[in-house]
Amino acid sequence: MNFGKSETQKMIADSIKEFAKQHIYPFQKEWDDKQIFPVDLFKKLGEMGFMGVLVPEEYGGSGFGYDEYITVVDELSQADPSIGLSVAAHNSLCTNHILTFGTEEQKQKWIPKLATGEWIGAWGLTEAGTGSDAGNMTCIAKLDGDEWVINGTKNFITHGKSGNVAVVMTRTGEKGDNRGATAIVVEMGTPGFTAGKKEDKLGMRASETTEMVFDNVRVPKENALGNIGDGFKQALTILDGGRISIAALSLGISKGSYIASLKYSKEREQFGKPISSFQGISFKLAEMATDIEASELLTYKAAWQKENNIDGYTITCAMAKYYASEACVRLSSEAVQIHGGYGYIKDFPVERYFRDSKLCTIGEGTTEIQKFVISRLLLKD
Ligand SMILES: Cc1cc2nc3c(=O)[nH]c(=O)nc-3n(C[C@H](O)[C@H](O)[C@H](O)COP(=O)(O)OP(=O)(O)OC[C@H]3O[C@@H](n4cnc5c(N)ncnc54)[C@H](O)[C@@H]3O)c2cc1C
Repeated sequence: MNFGKSETQKMIADSIKEFAKQHIYPFQKEWDDKQIFPVDLFKKLGEMGFMGVLVPEEYGGSGFGYDEYITVVDELSQADPSIGLSVAAHNSLCTNHILTFGTEEQKQKWIPKLATGEWIGAWGLTEAGTGSDAGNMTCIAKLDGDEWVINGTKNFITHGKSGNVAVVMTRTGEKGDNRGATAIVVEMGTPGFTAGKKEDKLGMRASETTEMVFDNVRVPKENALGNIGDGFKQALTILDGGRISIAALSLGISKGSYIASLKYSKEREQFGKPISSFQGISFKLAEMATDIEASELLTYKAAWQKENNIDGYTITCAMAKYYASEACVRLSSEAVQIHGGYGYIKDFPVERYFRDSKLCTIGEGTTEIQKFVISRLLLKD
């Protein structure tokens, strides 16, 4: 068993740190204040290979594995969690869905544009009335000759406006039937496909979240991914990988919170001493560092199991997502506490980590849904 980071992972981490100094840190306050989604940044990330991390080189991707993917999302999220979230959604939801379930023709059509960052991808499962209960979705697709006709609205979609292409889970059968959904690819610009309301969010403000509206949207029959009726099953498979992404995103927020707190606690003096010399503060640092270790081990174990298709990876992915996301909420809160009043103002990064962290216990399956998945698998005969 090797717990160290590979040379490739170290190189990725260093390059993202350098990239962030030039392209993220100078602008992130404005993005956060004004909810700007920096589209051009993703083109640059594409040039660096980070928009197609898990995509084989033959489709224009980097051809890396999950270890490198975790490093990318972790490092970007330390710099700016919104950017980590968008890169994660693009790679592991939209791109990975087409890569995993698409035909060779479908992959050739969409993957190279996504993997190089020329296009940004979106993935639509959630609706206003069905979040955790996604099986009851109401966005309908009906076959009319050689075309699908799609009607309905998807809610809270990352890149629902700026995405160039979306994988959309649609109802093609009966409500509540596990085989009643189909995943269909819809390109932006298709008549009737528009972005609805852009959400004004607590955190992750530089990652775009909007409705996607489908009003008699017609796409070729060939845009369905995999078998008709398999959409829900496919979505669950994609979410296993997505949970590794959110665990990595959480890990980045935890590390960012810890690094800022360690530095600040050594510099800030009260009662004539650095605050790190008080046990009340140093114990917080000890708890934070331990939580990071535990999150990281679980995240890499889930990734290793998924990559090697080892039985039972679904439960580990859910555990990694559950643990790492709850840990990042704890850590970012303690980071604000360690910074005292300065943690509550926008001059220090911990204020943003604190706001951004909460998404991690909600997106791609809430904490309660992760516990539901874990307990159901534990109790299965
Ligand atoms: C910033 C952001 C980005 C997002 N990006 C995307 C995206 O790109 N694509 C996409 O499809 N979705 C996306 N989502 C949606 C996200 O996945 C959902 O918000 C999430 O799955 C929860 O669904 P909900 O909001 O409807 O909450 P609900 O399902 O209504 O849950 C409300 C509460 O009830 C609890 N609950 C529900 N069912 C149960 C149960 N059976 N047992 C116990 N407790 C339960 C939940 O845990 C939660 O605490 C995004 C959301 C946000 C905020």
